[in-house]
Amino acid sequence: MSKSYDAIVIGAGQNGLTCACYLAAAGLRVLVLERYHAIGGMTLTEEVIGPGYWSDLHASGYQLANFSPVPKDLKLHELGVELIEPEIPFAHAFPDGRAIAVYRDLERTVENISRISPVDAETCRKLFQRYGSEREKIIDSFFSPPPSFADQAKSFATMSNGMEAYRFSLQSIRDWAAETFTSLEVSCLFASFAGFVGAAPDDAGGAEIAWLFASVLQAEGNSLVRGGMNNVTRAMTTFLANHGGEVRTSAPVARILVENKRATGVELESGEIMNAGLVVSAADPRQLVERFLGPTVAGPELTARIRNYEWGDAVCVLFTALDGSVDYAAGPEAGAASHVHLTHPSLEAISQAFTETRSGLLPAAPVIVAWNDTAIDPSRAPAGKHLKKFVILGVPYDIAGDATGQISGRDWDAVKDAYADYLIDHVIARYLPDLRRRLIRRVMHSPRDLERTLSSAVRGTILHGAMKPYQMGSQRPVPGLGEYRTPIPNVYICDSGTHPGPGVSMGSGYNAARVISRDLGLSFPAIGRGVR
Ligand SMILES: Cc1cc2nc3c(=O)[nH]c(=O)nc-3n(C[C@H](O)[C@H](O)[C@H](O)COP(=O)(O)OP(=O)(O)OC[C@H]3O[C@@H](n4cnc5c(N)ncnc54)[C@H](O)[C@@H]3O)c2cc1C
Repeated sequence: MSKSYDAIVIGAGQNGLTCACYLAAAGLRVLVLERYHAIGGMTLTEEVIGPGYWSDLHASGYQLANFSPVPKDLKLHELGVELIEPEIPFAHAFPDGRAIAVYRDLERTVENISRISPVDAETCRKLFQRYGSEREKIIDSFFSPPPSFADQAKSFATMSNGMEAYRFSLQSIRDWAAETFTSLEVSCLFASFAGFVGAAPDDAGGAEIAWLFASVLQAEGNSLVRGGMNNVTRAMTTFLANHGGEVRTSAPVARILVENKRATGVELESGEIMNAGLVVSAADPRQLVERFLGPTVAGPELTARIRNYEWGDAVCVLFTALDGSVDYAAGPEAGAASHVHLTHPSLEAISQAFTETRSGLLPAAPVIVAWNDTAIDPSRAPAGKHLKKFVILGVPYDIAGDATGQISGRDWDAVKDAYADYLIDHVIARYLPDLRRRLIRRVMHSPRDLERTLSSAVRGTILHGAMKPYQMGSQRPVPGLGEYRTPIPNVYICDSGTHPGPGVSMGSGYNAARVISRDLGLSFPAIGRGVR
């Protein structure tokens, strides 16, 4: 006989587990089904490069999580989550040996940026202070279901400075930087953050996201989780088990079973059936619509919308094991930061990299985010050894050509090693001169590898859907799914393809649990601090 649950959650990433934990704490019998052989989704930590070297396969920085109510509610620090908080959350290194280091301490940040431009340093002070004055409002917006499009428009139309806020929400980094900064270096510091969500310098909406992301890291930190980001989702799994919930790995869901316009459970790819009072998809929006529900249940309009959903630029990740520490040409502050952006001091160069990527070319000088894994958390590698991870923000998923002038193949499996070698040479020549001498081993995860590991990395992307202005808020992922509900009343969606979007904030899972609790008449949350 098939087993029966109050709720089944599809996908054991941070959002699926968050939703499951709150539902379990509210008294529901919850099962989480995960396709991969381990829990975590984009918080996996594995020995990808060799025994004793623990790399975060995807997310490294505990950033948005710092202002999330979830870790406090679930008391994750009592369940194995220990944060290491460097005083420099991020830095930006340029090929000429200069760097900007952003400190948790605002005065040190201003002093540091003054070396590049005293005027921009004072501007940055105001920008980071502005985050402080809007912090509570921002946190509320992350951890609440989004307002409807109409309410959002009304609020822009009626609030003081509403039109300024509307303009900022749509402005590109290039336009905003031109009216805000005097130096290219500081412009690039922010432009790299836009790159995290796939926004090139001329893309609409890049400016506000870049300001917000940079400010969150300055104010809240960019911590590493001792031993790896996976400890966050492992702690959630412990919380879930303590509240009677279960997780099954290597359990890919094939479809949601629907009778008389209500879900009755799910069917695994193995054919096994499990019954449930409600189903929550924490996989990705396309899979929910096209596969779990299917076009007949989802209906033609929603199916058409999800087919046009934009995924954004793919990424690749280069993991390196080193037999000693490697200094940055830009100096020790870069080496002490959690992560370092590596770009030319030129919006044009960043723009060029995105243009190459979007033309299908392997970019010659992409935006690279270098993670100083073991400089912050030595426990990730054997004694005396080191790890650095490089996230390449923006590579084509389908390779049509090559801007490096060195790579002839067009298939990721065939070219990824050559591209990894190219990137290492690129980084050595400009940023980390000793990298080759110290290199023990490197492993490259191409966009295809990312997607093979996790199907939620659709087309090798990070975001569960690009953060375009028309794919945000209640429009995320698409109209009709933007409030965590679906056309089937007891099927919900809570992956980061919903508001507030990507990043380990646990926000989508939290907000969906809130909506489900309301629909079921449960009090929310049943744990912790109460409704925000
Ligand atoms: C390279 C990279 C670097 C990043 N760096 C950072 C960072 O430093 N800081 C940060 O905050 N964020 C970072 N992110 C983003 C962050 O990791 C993600 O936004 C977030 O973890 C996504 O969580 P999620 O729960 O929404 O989805 P996911 O983590 O994608 O979880 C979805 C889960 O659903 C499962 N699934 C899919 N299909 C099925 C099925 N049919 N049946 C059962 N299960 C299924 C998947 O296997 C997966 O485990 C990074 C992401 C990447 C890829």
